[in-house]
Amino acid sequence: MKKTILSIVSALVLTSVSALNAAEWKSGIQWVEPPVVDPGPETAPANVPSDAIVLFDGKSMDAWENGQNWPIKDGAVYSGRGMVVSKQKFGSVQLHVEFATPAEVKGHSQGRGNSGVFWGPYEVQVLDSYQNQTYFDGQCGSIYKQNPPAVNCCRKPGEWQSYDIIFMRPEFNEKGEVVRPMYVTVFQNGILVQNHLQVKGETYYHLKPFYTAHDAKMPIRLQDHGNPVRFRNIWVREIADTPVQPVQENSPVKPFEVFGSQE
Ligand code: MG
Repeated sequence: MKKTILSIVSALVLTSVSALNAAEWKSGIQWVEPPVVDPGPETAPANVPSDAIVLFDGKSMDAWENGQNWPIKDGAVYSGRGMVVSKQKFGSVQLHVEFATPAEVKGHSQGRGNSGVFWGPYEVQVLDSYQNQTYFDGQCGSIYKQNPPAVNCCRKPGEWQSYDIIFMRPEFNEKGEVVRPMYVTVFQNGILVQNHLQVKGETYYHLKPFYTAHDAKMPIRLQDHGNPVRFRNIWVREIADTPVQPVQENSPVKPFEVFGSQE
């Protein structure tokens, strides 16, 4: 418990220090605006697969550090004070999250319905991007400040939406160098918005992305950005990593044997 309080306090101090020093960083890339796609009406909560680990079932935030500071109402949890961090850590995962930005529209750009879904330090942005302009690599479905979503398929404010995210973890060697970068695939409301994107590093607001070596297993985190975004039906399935090494030239296993020969 002491450790938890200490880590929350140090995170708060670090956040405020970096906020004081924060000069906004931008990639300078001139992205094309993602076209708007209507995903259709909101749906009932998705089924939970039998091998999934449920992180929020509508009743309890016991699976999360700081969960007591996120209020639960009518089967949904509202983004509250401070980030929530899953107590369990995961390697590569398939993550399902349902979210709704506030029905009452307040603010604009990054100030409207902002939250985020993280594996470790890497953010898939949550934002009310329904008729709300912001920088494209910071809108809903973006890998924050690295890549815009392929399309803008946000539902209206207050309507339930879903993310199905595949986080393929990065791997580091003993020197802390990246052996294999992270890859992220995201479906928003069943529509592909990030297709096996190679992530450049941590998704900072104020810094160019770079990797800092971390554990193979990391927590899932949900962001408090001061907006009461709702969440429900959060579950995760830990999945196998992609192969670390490509097949070597002198390997007894030839590439065609791996992928299947047409001959
Ligand atoms: Mg965010």
